[in-house]
Amino acid sequence: MSYDTIIIGAGPAGLAAGLYAARGALKVLIIEKGGIGGQIATSWDIENYPGSPPNSTGPSLTERMREQCEEFGVEFSTRTYQSFSITLNGFAIETDSGSLETQTLIVATGAEPKMIGCKGERELRGMGVSYCATCDANFFKGLKVAVLGGGDTALEESLYLTKYAKEVVIIHRRDELRGAKILQQRIKDNEKISLILDSVVEEIKGNGLVEGIVVKNVKTGETSVVPVDGVFVFVGQKPNMEPFVGSLERDARDYLITDEDMRTNISGIFAAGDVRRKSLRQVVTATADGAIAAVNVIKFIEELK
Ligand code: NAP
Repeated sequence: MSYDTIIIGAGPAGLAAGLYAARGALKVLIIEKGGIGGQIATSWDIENYPGSPPNSTGPSLTERMREQCEEFGVEFSTRTYQSFSITLNGFAIETDSGSLETQTLIVATGAEPKMIGCKGERELRGMGVSYCATCDANFFKGLKVAVLGGGDTALEESLYLTKYAKEVVIIHRRDELRGAKILQQRIKDNEKISLILDSVVEEIKGNGLVEGIVVKNVKTGETSVVPVDGVFVFVGQKPNMEPFVGSLERDARDYLITDEDMRTNISGIFAAGDVRRKSLRQVVTATADGAIAAVNVIKFIEELK
């Protein structure tokens, strides 16, 4: 079975690429190792995707994107991408469930949360240390949690956590938050949220379950133990590009480099969404990338004829 294009990843970038490629009459397969939706599937409130209805969630938005793809004939397969090799007709793709053939490839593998790297983080992951408020907030009803980070994700997820936790303390390494001003205002207005600025977490303590964190003030050097029942880590992301090391060009932070038509350094391979180097990682820019990649895949295939 040979495809015109195989898209790796079923987040907003991959789903938008699938929709545009299928509407361009290509034979399209989207492969995905986990569920549909990518990182946005863990978002509880999408306020800034133009036209999304009030209270729309990541899963509801991406489920509708998947349905649209299927309406236009996109195939889906749950499997893990492993490698590609160049063939006379395009690419042979190796996956954990066998080989596939395709003329072109769109890499839309997204990004994933970074770990903070402190003592206790790995050991207590899943036992009070979490990277997804939507998934785990429910476990912290009436309890106190810490949120690490000062970006949009940390601020949005802190607000979400207040629906469950009795107290949320945000720990940020500088004296100023990075996240959007509107979120900063909401944080300030929320009585359940407090801030510890100029501080980093040196250790997460617990015996089977999180019991507290060791916080160090980076200006004074003082450390203190803050008792918490949970720690939510939102300190940024890293691109899912490991399978392409050695083949696709990356920037210093490991994001894949494309031109504005989403072409990578290898003819016939395109990249879209959070995995590529760009200035704004949002659903709206991911879907735009996907559309641009698909349109240029269509052009690429036309030019081969
Ligand atoms: P981010 O913007 O990169 O913020 C990461 C935060 O973690 C920063 O405050 C950073 O501190 C801190 N940090 C990084 N490494 C750290 C470490 N080792 N120890 C302590 N703190 C550390 O990441 P993000 O919040 O996940 O957002 C990623 C992208 O998605 C951004 O472009 C963001 O705008 C976007 N996003 C948008 C929305 C929305 O618009 N609704 C929602 C979520 C995410 P510094 O500030 O000192 O660097």
